[in-house]
Amino acid sequence: MGSSSSAAATAKQDQTHGSQAAHASSLDHLLEAAGDVVFRLDPSGLIRFASERARQRLGAGAPLAGSALPLLAPEADQAALRNALVDATARGDAILVEARLRCGERDTWFELRISPLAGGHELLAVGRDMSAQRATEQQLRHMATHDALTELPNRLLLSDRIRMVIANARRSGQGFSIANIGLDGFKKVNDGPGHPVGDDILRQAAARLRKTLRDSDTLARVGGDEFVAVLPGTLSPSQIKLVTGRLLAALQSPFEVGSHTIYLGASIGVSVYPEHAEDEVRLLALADAAMGRAKETGGARTVVYSARMPGELRGPPQHDISLEAAMFQAVREGEFQLYYQPIVCSRSRRIEGFETLMRWKHPTLGMVPPVRFIPIAETNGLINLLGAWALKAACVQIRQFEEVAKRDLYISVNISPRQFRNDRFLAVLDDALAFSGTSGDKLVLEITEGTLMIDPVHAEAILQKMAERRARIAIDDFGTGYSSLAYLKRFPISVLKIDRAFIKDLPASAKDAAICNTVLDLAKHLDLSVVAEGVETEEQLGYMASRGCDYVQGYLTGKPMPAHVAMAALKENLYAALLPDELRAGIL
Ligand code: C2E
Ligand code: MG
Ligand code: MG
Repeated sequence: MGSSSSAAATAKQDQTHGSQAAHASSLDHLLEAAGDVVFRLDPSGLIRFASERARQRLGAGAPLAGSALPLLAPEADQAALRNALVDATARGDAILVEARLRCGERDTWFELRISPLAGGHELLAVGRDMSAQRATEQQLRHMATHDALTELPNRLLLSDRIRMVIANARRSGQGFSIANIGLDGFKKVNDGPGHPVGDDILRQAAARLRKTLRDSDTLARVGGDEFVAVLPGTLSPSQIKLVTGRLLAALQSPFEVGSHTIYLGASIGVSVYPEHAEDEVRLLALADAAMGRAKETGGARTVVYSARMPGELRGPPQHDISLEAAMFQAVREGEFQLYYQPIVCSRSRRIEGFETLMRWKHPTLGMVPPVRFIPIAETNGLINLLGAWALKAACVQIRQFEEVAKRDLYISVNISPRQFRNDRFLAVLDDALAFSGTSGDKLVLEITEGTLMIDPVHAEAILQKMAERRARIAIDDFGTGYSSLAYLKRFPISVLKIDRAFIKDLPASAKDAAICNTVLDLAKHLDLSVVAEGVETEEQLGYMASRGCDYVQGYLTGKPMPAHVAMAALKENLYAALLPDELRAGIL
């Protein structure tokens, strides 16, 4: 306040300076236009003159003369201003300084050019409002460091943050963990309902994840459907379990977008500093590898990376890591087998064909179900080997089945996406047919909508080649993908297998009934045959048969069984469901 009374005195003095004052005032008039804010100052920084615009912006219209310029700045910038004033006077040269000045409630960035005037007895400060430029810079910085869709930090900022957290951890000695979070099944959203729906889901997912984390945690989006959380202080197995459990739960509830209700879930991989690695790149890579493992082993789970003690990982993931090694051993030891599940005419209940289902009889683990080992085989490429073997064995088997049954039958074989994409797939198919002497029309190859949609052009070419060999194509798990139905016209498809999910609540569920009826209608128009999967009750069979579904497959009419059991059923011309006990004993 003291400075304001001396300011008034100075202002008065200033006005009584006669001709000098007149000169100054004509100069001041010119100065009005020189910048957004303009000041004439005495060498100590007291304002002698402030331009009209400076008064409007900084003084709410009041004359600023008499105030010290540095005091118009917030405290943080006052020293910089003072130094600039001193430098300008001392050097006799113009000095540029960036500082904020208080404009009412808000601070505004100005670039001030401070030059000595009148032989060093005065200073001229001309300020340019930098707020627009600053805002643009800020925005550019934000854009370079954040993901536009979710507003979360991107990989660049994530790297910075991890390095910062590492530096803190080194100082404090307290570790942290990194969680790599991948949405399960996100691809089918983009392939089906489309990218706008996918984008909306990603925004919702980002918001849900952010809400589950603490302010001190960093959440970044690092790829299409992948997020990374940096969790300072979270490193014990129980803490990790708690936090990742919350993250998984957050993504488990359905996403509502317009008329779509979409269920996704997530897989999480975790690496821990300093236990697994001490640098940012490796920590991220290990969390990513662990997430890959979580996905391979069925998703909807967390896998904590462990290199030093692979045998001691807790829970199912540990199992799965050793499972992979055991699979190679199993191939050598011949532990894989094929089971056959009857596909039955819904009216006569006669067996018309079999689906080949792979089984792994592990010496200590017992029966390992295909949902556990097929995804691993998909990732490590073993599926090509196993698939080729299954195809060949199935082609041999169908000849034996027909011999026993003394009539025509067909054999259905599952083809995984990787197998389908493999360059050698047609050669493998030809080899199986040639080796067994089976003709192509005995063979149905089951693929999923996803397999077709990964690369439709390639798929079209391959399917054409299969059609040339008269092998038929079935769409497995029909209805669970989000693909458009247009492909049914485009590709030479013969069979739709309605997924068990739509059968299990029949006939009570009106929704499922409607879906089944629509599929049957569609199939009729496109001249496709339909197999209902997972039929377990008479009611389900009765319902599907009454709606014109020609074939059923399920526990009701026969579980998957070893070849000798299937042959016994065929020999006796029995329906699998009516097998005598001694034969049923071998049935899974
Ligand atoms: P999928 O091709 O849809 O096979 C049908 C699955 O439903 C089989 O499971 C079968 O055992 C089961 N199932 C059949 N009827 C019923 C029923 O009434 N109730 C219930 N709850 N389930 C029933 P499985 O054998 O565990 O095979 C699972 C999946 O693994 C298969 O689904 C297929 O996608 C894959 N798979 C199996 N064998 C092979 C193979 O040789 N190659 C490839 N690429 N995938 C295979
Ligand atoms: Mg199948
Ligand atoms: Mg299926």
